[in-house]
Amino acid sequence: MTHAQSHALFERARARLPGGVNSPVRAFKSVGGEPFFVARADGPYLYDVDGHRYIDYVGSWGPMIAGHNHPRVREAVQRAIGDGLSFGAPCPAEVTMAETLARLVPSCEMVRMVNSGTEATLSAIRLARGATGRSRIVKFEGCYHGHGDSFLVKAGSGALTFGVPTSPGVPKALADLTLTLPYNDFGAATALFDTAGDDIAALIIEPVVGNANCLPPREGYLQHLRALCTRHGALLIFDEVMTGFRVALGGAQARYGVTPDLSAFGKIIGGGMPVGAYGGRRELMEQVAPAGPVYQAGTLSGNPVAMAAGLAMLELVSEPGFHDRLEATTHALCDGLEAAARDAGVAFTTTRVGAMFGLFFTSEPTVDTYAQAVACDTATFNRFFHAMLARGVFLAPSAFEAGFVSAAHDDAVVDATVAAAREAFGSLADD
Ligand code: PMP
Repeated sequence: MTHAQSHALFERARARLPGGVNSPVRAFKSVGGEPFFVARADGPYLYDVDGHRYIDYVGSWGPMIAGHNHPRVREAVQRAIGDGLSFGAPCPAEVTMAETLARLVPSCEMVRMVNSGTEATLSAIRLARGATGRSRIVKFEGCYHGHGDSFLVKAGSGALTFGVPTSPGVPKALADLTLTLPYNDFGAATALFDTAGDDIAALIIEPVVGNANCLPPREGYLQHLRALCTRHGALLIFDEVMTGFRVALGGAQARYGVTPDLSAFGKIIGGGMPVGAYGGRRELMEQVAPAGPVYQAGTLSGNPVAMAAGLAMLELVSEPGFHDRLEATTHALCDGLEAAARDAGVAFTTTRVGAMFGLFFTSEPTVDTYAQAVACDTATFNRFFHAMLARGVFLAPSAFEAGFVSAAHDDAVVDATVAAAREAFGSLADD
């Protein structure tokens, strides 16, 4: 495979963009090598500028759950742009979006649209602090909630990939207000709330962690956190930027039957356009300006083109059987990968929840803690990543990111992936 065009673009990019990219994990820094530049995307495939095709398990990091360039989303956008790109005044699609979200996610009686997952989580935290009059927040090691200052403490995703889980530039005074817990540890959460519970404004969690590989919650864990928050008057915030409309139509809160006070969304609700949202109970959301005193605003929030894309995507994911098919695809893929690894004698396991999955190079039968995730063999993951890429399969370029399937990943695509994996696992022994 030659990558002359991608290489030339990366050279130009590095001169003008920090690290050659606009978001860190894209640079392939942890897996090594150079990123390919994408010319176009369709269904389950990305096509690079050198003419190579890849089966894509990144899906733009989540939004492309119906497959790339879905005609219904594209046509909705084309219709919307005919009427103008941005109004700076209310438009009908914003109302439809809020009503749709309230219908699909029952804990969201009211919502506020924003422009990214980062904005959604940092606005939710501000609201929690404003509503409770408390300053401290609790997050989990390896969880990523966007790049807001309060969250870049023991963060996952790119921060974890690059070994800088707490970022320079976050004032210590602010970082001190962020308490961290190990995910899936019942006792640690109880102990923290026993000592600091009455100072805690909110606990924020990825209910299924997708930024430290993919870690499902243990039985009863989310219920345990719900009970602790209720007992201590802290708000429970589910960051459903990744899990929303993916692990079930109503997100992780529907799948696990736990109702948070506030939820943050992104990715799928924009259908590929820059969109986020946060929402929750009416009396909380009515504290947001201009209904209430907690300030938060956005020039492009509720943008008509973005709303059109998001609404088309939410229609697609609402179709009967959509998530059952995705879940079957995830299982077929993960079962196939595990069998291929076993046959090649490679220590490997997977996790799966709905349309997200994790790949772990370990001899542990299952992985559901951050400590286990970071103890896995990342060097072997990196070699596997490149072996798959060379065979036309694009996995997330980091051992600490969940993978995503889409509705466009049919049986033939899964079979082709598993066939590539058989060769790739086999090649690990040869190197
Ligand atoms: N929360 C979670 C769980 C995420 O996975 C991400 C992004 N990967 C974010 C928040 C931040 O979203 P954005 O990149 O749109 O700011």
